[in-house]
Amino acid sequence: DAKRQGRGRHVIFSAALAERVVRRTQLAEALRRALAASELQAALQPQQRLRDGKVLGFEALARWQHGSQWVPPSEFISLAEDVGLAQSLGHAVMEAAMAGFAAMLAAGLEPGHLAINVSTAQLLADDFVDQVAAALARHAIPPRRLEIEVTETVLLDRSTARIGQTLEALRAMGCTLAMDDFGTGYASLSHLTSFPVDRIKIDRSFTHAIDSEDGSGLIARSLIQLGGALGLEVIAEGVETDSQRNFLFTHGCSAIQGYWFARPMLPDAAMAWLRAQAG
Ligand code: C2E
Ligand code: MG
Ligand code: MG
Ligand code: MG
Repeated sequence: DAKRQGRGRHVIFSAALAERVVRRTQLAEALRRALAASELQAALQPQQRLRDGKVLGFEALARWQHGSQWVPPSEFISLAEDVGLAQSLGHAVMEAAMAGFAAMLAAGLEPGHLAINVSTAQLLADDFVDQVAAALARHAIPPRRLEIEVTETVLLDRSTARIGQTLEALRAMGCTLAMDDFGTGYASLSHLTSFPVDRIKIDRSFTHAIDSEDGSGLIARSLIQLGGALGLEVIAEGVETDSQRNFLFTHGCSAIQGYWFARPMLPDAAMAWLRAQAG
């Protein structure tokens, strides 16, 4: 009896797995079509400099509305990477983000910098630096306005030497470099000294821990100190509460990003938000 039940369970798991594979295959096709039709969008989330409360910049976050639903980036980014669409997705988000950011500059607003998340596949493409340079020129955005965000996993790739060259070339152009989700990977310390990083972004899990009973922000505080010792700017992600914001300010964090300051917004809304801040 137990055996039969076991077998039944196995069948159920297989059916669930098969369903997942079908859904992923269909979603991959839909993503391919969406990219071809330029349907990928970029939301822009403001970052606040704590010293003066001003806008430090905006981070571009990929958005995909598929039918009546928004597909979460956690689902379609890894999908794009698995099916060879990472470069195409990265290019689409960069275009959409730069168009929105350029509109702010053209309107005479001060949007600070534009931060873009890039994947390993993009950094390994032969023409990535040229692509970025061309896109910046096309949108009349000064290279010093562009920040490239990479995660620690990018730096753990086999081809670290090539990736290092690409990052150096971007930096030579005037772009800045941020290490995203800092503290969640494995390579943290060694890579901070061997890559030309300007800023570290404290992962939101450490920001949220500030409000928890135990630890009370120990890791966030340590990462801020580490950044300071290495001469790096530190930005905390996922700031949602007054107490998190105050804690980070008190302990010398340079900037924050999170719902406390503003949510990610599609470009028109982001521009209206920035205008309201300025006036
Ligand atoms: P990330 O780069 O660490 O981006 C920050 C994430 O935190 C975003 O999730 C943002 O919407 C979310 N967030 C911002 N403020 C808060 C807050 O106060 N509370 C909470 N709980 N969350 C907050 P999102 O947009 O879902 O993106 C998830 C991840 O997907 C990003 O994490 C990034 O790693 C990746 N991603 C997004 N867009 C792109 C892209 O264009 N290219 C690549 N390669 N990756 C992207
Ligand atoms: Mg990021
Ligand atoms: Mg992050
Ligand atoms: Mg993250």
